[in-house]
Amino acid sequence: MIKRRKTRPVYVGNVKIGDDAPIIVQSMTDTKTHDIEKTLNQIKRLYDAGCEIVRVAAPTEKDAYALSDIVKNSPIPVIADIHFSPRIAFMALESGIKGIRLNPGNINDKGKIKEILQECKKKNIAVRLGVNSGSLEERLLEKYGYPTGEALAESALYWSEFFESVGFTNFKVSIKGSDVLQNIEANRIFAEKTDIPLHIGITEAGPAGKGSVKSAVGLGILLYMGIGDTVRVSLTADPVEEVKVAYQILQSLGLRRRGIEIISCPTCGRIEVNLPEIVKKVEEKLEGENLPIKVAIMGCVVNAIGEAREADIGLACGNRSAILFKHGQPVKRVSEDEMVDQLLYEIQKMKEEN
Ligand code: SF4
Repeated sequence: MIKRRKTRPVYVGNVKIGDDAPIIVQSMTDTKTHDIEKTLNQIKRLYDAGCEIVRVAAPTEKDAYALSDIVKNSPIPVIADIHFSPRIAFMALESGIKGIRLNPGNINDKGKIKEILQECKKKNIAVRLGVNSGSLEERLLEKYGYPTGEALAESALYWSEFFESVGFTNFKVSIKGSDVLQNIEANRIFAEKTDIPLHIGITEAGPAGKGSVKSAVGLGILLYMGIGDTVRVSLTADPVEEVKVAYQILQSLGLRRRGIEIISCPTCGRIEVNLPEIVKKVEEKLEGENLPIKVAIMGCVVNAIGEAREADIGLACGNRSAILFKHGQPVKRVSEDEMVDQLLYEIQKMKEEN
């Protein structure tokens, strides 16, 4: 069992982060924010995949102007991502956004940051205080030589204290580096010293395949240590993939469950059906289904009986046929041609019973 770190709650609109809330899944659109229609379409796809908070970039005034329409029509709370420009931050705060992401390191004007925080407090807008290895303050680079985990944690603690010193507490912290070990170390040091919720992720993790592995290793270790109140998997890919991978990571650790979990064997020389094809078809057909069940598709009887017993429903394949199991009990024998349809039919029945 994973024992989660005790954190204080932060609210992004109606979404609670930290305390006893589940670990929240976030993503970020990759459309031009001023293209309102495209951005909203992508937000809708992210929402359908299970995204609970969405961040949109606001690099220009044109993007900041688009925010209010996006916020009004988004099914989930919107966070504006602001870098460098306090002016755009103030514009965004007028749009109805529920959260704003700031990296104090790249605004670096305490007076302006204080004004932004006061406005956020007035409007009940949460802040994500971001510290990134790429925008670490000069003084810390001089002290540590390069962005070490300790340096990143020190920066996050410094700015957290500043936020609190001006009476602002509705914030979470993200400390991100693309190096997995540096990231883990920074979050660990920070987590030991505060109860501020942490947004965790491996930044610039890479393309879908490699990035998912890197994210799974980094996030998996942190989550196992009980660290992390909200996650974003950063991939150079369709952001919907980020949400799917985030749920897979959380699901692997028993921290969240979304959709149908498919267990399938890697296949070996004992195989007598086209298992990869069967699994692919089942996966495609069940895409987007949010039934909390486990489906086992096993190549032969070696592990099938045990897995089928653990799963809600399953196929134990043999010579061009399979035994279909439901709740650990054999239901019927099906031929290879009808396996997928029969399995889907039984899952549909379970859905109706549910
Ligand atoms: Fe091989 Fe059977 Fe194990 Fe699949 S379940 S990997 S076919 S032994």
